Amino acid sequence: MNPIGVFGGTFDPIHYGHLRTAYEMLQALKFDEVRFMPCGKPPHRNEPRADSTVRLSMVTAAIQGQKGFIVDDREINREGPSYSVDTLKTLRTDFPLRSLGLIVGMDAFLGLPEWYQWREILELSHIVVAHRPGWRMPDMGPLDELLKERGTHRVDDLHQSKSGYIYIHEVTQLEISSTDIRTLVRSGRNPRFLTPASVTKIINDSKCYKNKLTN
Ligand code: ATP
Repeated sequence: MNPIGVFGGTFDPIHYGHLRTAYEMLQALKFDEVRFMPCGKPPHRNEPRADSTVRLSMVTAAIQGQKGFIVDDREINREGPSYSVDTLKTLRTDFPLRSLGLIVGMDAFLGLPEWYQWREILELSHIVVAHRPGWRMPDMGPLDELLKERGTHRVDDLHQSKSGYIYIHEVTQLEISSTDIRTLVRSGRNPRFLTPASVTKIINDSKCYKNKLTN
């Protein structure tokens, strides 16, 4: 069986930058599936603007009909901060024999040394990094060392081992962020073509970004 991609995020809201990245990863790395996993309480950033149920419904709507895309609500249903290492432990229990690939954008990868028990992550899964517009590969420090030790250019490595490798994959650069979408919506503009129409509808119906925000 092929690896399972695990794509965590705030998804506040999900957009085509996320979707295209996941799709290209699914194809290029030959994942059996990509599990979209909206976080409950993110440990490294402000509280999401939209409720977890709304974020979950936006992800569900966005991926509908795409073979291999699955929504996984385990982080939303768990109490406390959504630490990736805890999530991966539960996935390991559910899928003891499968290769797991944690998908992160380059910006998220650069923050890895601040993650809770980050060195344990590679004991549980691979890390697959999507090149994101405007971010450069680390060329010094702990991540550079980690890349030298664990980096691979071989997709086969991700299939043959269950965990332990870092693979950097270039994806089509779509300079879209959830922050920009929220800003657009707050100023009354339509995020059309940045996110699926089904997501725009949920944003409109739930009014999840309507309130004036403090930052
Ligand atoms: P925000 O603007 O609120 O910070 P975001 O657009 O970065 O949100 P997240 O939900 O925080 O979205 O991102 C989840 C994951 O998707 C992260 O690993 C992030 O690096 C990655 N990601 C976000 N936007 C893109 C994009 N346009 N292209 C590729 N990867 C992306």
